[in-house]
Amino acid sequence: MSGDIRIDLSRLRRDIEDLGRIGCDVSGGVSRPSFSPADLEARAWFKDRLASAGLAVRQDGAGNIFGRLGGEGRPVMTGSHIDTVLNGGMFDGAAGVLSSLECLRRIGEEKARLAKPLEVVSFTDEEGNLCGDFLGSRAFTGQLNRAEVERGLTQLGLPLADILQGTEFSLESILETNASAAPAVEAFLELHVEQGPTLDDEGVPVGIVDRIAGKHYRLCSFLGKAGHAGTTPIELRQDAFLGLADFALRSTQHVATRHYGSFVTIGRVAVRPGAFSIVPGQADFTLEFRSASPGTMAALETELFALAEDIARTRGLAFVSKVVDATTPLAVAPRILDVLTEECGRLGFPFLKLTSGAGHDAQILAAAADSGMIFVPSPDGLSHSPKECLRWDDLEKGANLLLASLLRLAA
Ligand SMILES: [Zn+2]
Repeated sequence: MSGDIRIDLSRLRRDIEDLGRIGCDVSGGVSRPSFSPADLEARAWFKDRLASAGLAVRQDGAGNIFGRLGGEGRPVMTGSHIDTVLNGGMFDGAAGVLSSLECLRRIGEEKARLAKPLEVVSFTDEEGNLCGDFLGSRAFTGQLNRAEVERGLTQLGLPLADILQGTEFSLESILETNASAAPAVEAFLELHVEQGPTLDDEGVPVGIVDRIAGKHYRLCSFLGKAGHAGTTPIELRQDAFLGLADFALRSTQHVATRHYGSFVTIGRVAVRPGAFSIVPGQADFTLEFRSASPGTMAALETELFALAEDIARTRGLAFVSKVVDATTPLAVAPRILDVLTEECGRLGFPFLKLTSGAGHDAQILAAAADSGMIFVPSPDGLSHSPKECLRWDDLEKGANLLLASLLRLAA
């Protein structure tokens, strides 16, 4: 009976450790941004693993890699990403992709009867090292920001076209995939490390995600007037940095008191001209806010900009901003939540339903199919760090829940 199939943890562990050695850097972390030499090596390794498992391997023009078990029809898809941030860990993304592979491998080995095909996927550049997060899953579902790809500026400081040089991919192949996207997907499941402390704190081995937060990225500036630090009286200053400082404190206080559970973050700041003896005439900063509630996202957009405008007015400054990226919050489809909770109960694993504050490919896939996520605990809540880890027995439970849920959805 197919319900009794279990993953082979030692084989899964070997895969994760093998992949973790590709792009391993001197500090013990993993640096494998999409299309870097390490990523290209990881892609070749992964395609080889898919083929060895007897899966039909293909890739699209955005570099998303697929391995299929079963014939024609809308697949039940599962996967994540194998790219990493610079100096990240070996589990973020990889644990999900390789657990998915292990599930399909076991299902194939047991020759379980499937009404629908199963497909494992590794999406390109989930981490957004190139141009905005989720390049691969966005291209797969036709949600790419075309102008951003054409502009082709990457977080790594090199033009995207240069990074793609010497690979099988190009700006054109990515945009073509995006333009022709018509994904027929039955459902999508993603296993991922939690990247936060909740499951670890509660001592629960499995998390079932019921919501994924949306996020909004903006580049902002307060504009004032530069002046001599020794001769410009305090009351005559138009100090752009003070506008920013005021905004940083008041926006955080606002979100913490009015929208607890949502977040606002100023992650990068540059003050100009930037000297000991000059009152800052310009303060540039990144503004990020996120929430699991669509209503709160809309409220935050209105309220934070009203606050910035108000601060600018009272301090004799101007405030300007532009959107860089935005994703909408996702409520996981009830039928997926039902399958995950029922299978988890049947397997006898304690679980917690929780919100993902981090964005994931599952959120992007939700535009094409009912999508859901399984979390395994991140000890100490560490992520995007060489110290990121997981407990193998937690992963075994998460992967077995994935396997059982895939069988249910493909039955
Ligand atoms: Zn990830």
